[in-house]
Amino acid sequence: MQSIEAYWQNHIDGEWVDGSAGRIDITDPATGEKLAEHALAGADDVDRAVQAAKRVHLSGALSSLRPVERGRMVTAMGRYLLDNIDEIAQVLTLEQGKPLWESHVEIEGAARYFEYYGNQAETVEGRSIPLGANYFDFTVMEPYGVSAQIIPWNYPIEMTARSLSASLATGNTAVIKSPEMTPLSCAYLIKAAEAVGLPAGAVNLICGLGSEAGAALSGHEDVNQIVFTGSVPTGIAIATAAAKNVVPCILELGGKSAAIVHGDADLEAFESDVRWGIYFNAGQVCSAMSRIIVHDSVHGELVSRISSLADSLSVGPGIDRPEFGANMGAMVSDAQRDRACEMVSQAVAAGAKVAAGGRKLNQPGAFMEPTVLTDVTPDMDIANEEVFGPVVSVLKFQDDDEAIEIANGTPYGLVGGVFTADLDRATQSAHRIRAGQIFVNEWYAGGVETPFGGYGKSGYGREKGREALWNYVQTKNIAIKL
Ligand code: NAD
Repeated sequence: MQSIEAYWQNHIDGEWVDGSAGRIDITDPATGEKLAEHALAGADDVDRAVQAAKRVHLSGALSSLRPVERGRMVTAMGRYLLDNIDEIAQVLTLEQGKPLWESHVEIEGAARYFEYYGNQAETVEGRSIPLGANYFDFTVMEPYGVSAQIIPWNYPIEMTARSLSASLATGNTAVIKSPEMTPLSCAYLIKAAEAVGLPAGAVNLICGLGSEAGAALSGHEDVNQIVFTGSVPTGIAIATAAAKNVVPCILELGGKSAAIVHGDADLEAFESDVRWGIYFNAGQVCSAMSRIIVHDSVHGELVSRISSLADSLSVGPGIDRPEFGANMGAMVSDAQRDRACEMVSQAVAAGAKVAAGGRKLNQPGAFMEPTVLTDVTPDMDIANEEVFGPVVSVLKFQDDDEAIEIANGTPYGLVGGVFTADLDRATQSAHRIRAGQIFVNEWYAGGVETPFGGYGKSGYGREKGREALWNYVQTKNIAIKL
């Protein structure tokens, strides 16, 4: 195993540079010890990065290329990640806490975005519109220009890959604001961009505080489009900044997503959905299965099964967990872990019962036991607020209408699930759940090809799939008088 570099820099206009706001310590959440330092960007660094991206955009170095050529570079970025997966996975696990095998899954997911959008580059086409014999009219899809991408700490490399791949494929340039807790692995995206020959300044990377570098980037008047993944309050701040400059933004915010489990569901198979749905990445997933709404008739069996599952997961340092299996790593920080534990305590005070876990581990590191809460009712805070940790709340229902009402009872609407052998019932529920993506009989069914995004407070705009491409281009109509 290699050692980690002690100091990591920002990347602006083709050069690795220090930050004008100094440095920030990056902590290994599995030990609580300092892992490295990262340059911290200030507003002037943000400005230089935006100006570089603007210059490359205006030069046409990307936007004037034949799309297949851009596409080839984008696909090659994914291959770079796979070629270096062991090194990147180690960095990601050390900064973020997830098991090493989960870091491999994340990097493979990131590479998949570059493959998918690289292949889509030459499919972005306009149309011709008949205006009679005296005119020739057609549309072209043009990139916005400088895409600002503000990234959360839970999937730093995969979330960045998601927006970066689509923005480059469509001919935009980018300024990435990496998350201040987990910025290290994003450096490999720059190395990938350099390796495939993207022009200097086409992709810029800055790590900075949200309130400083993040705010400076989202409010910069030369940014032409913003992609944000993160919390609701920050999303509102970014949408406000975007509105002031009249630029479009995509908001991928949080969720309190529910799986409705009917009496005829395959409960044995559902254990795997829970394993992935709430304990993957220690529950720090925007589309986590944080609520299970189960029919009264199978409540006892379901709780018994998922409590055994939670108890069976071994929790400890991600770096010691290279193989897929019944294990979970650290949360991203002690603060996030303590917040989740506090939410569990408050839920218990409000009447919920702990069927599994519920506590932090008695050892250094941001570890929390995989947790199952029962006797949760829809009015409780735990049933409405995102924990962003390994905590699932189990609620009961008697009839289908009640299940839908509970599922739709939060301000969020990111994803939802229905588990039943009855396809009619599943289809009806899928129509009635207010969320951007519905899983029937498999949580996370779908992939990079399927559109993803929120209803309600979970945000707007769609990432993934063909839909995402249209976020990065604007339509120009050209009418020619013959
Ligand atoms: P956060 O909103 O605190 O931070 C996200 C990013 O925004 C960070 O890079 C941060 O530095 C930056 N930021 C903070 N304040 C800013 C400001 N005023 N202006 C501009 N940028 C600012 O969120 P987080 O704690 O990093 O991530 C957890 C949240 O993100 C959860 O609520 C989760 O559900 C959500 N999330 C959503 C998705 C999705 O795809 N829908 C994916 C991952 C995480």
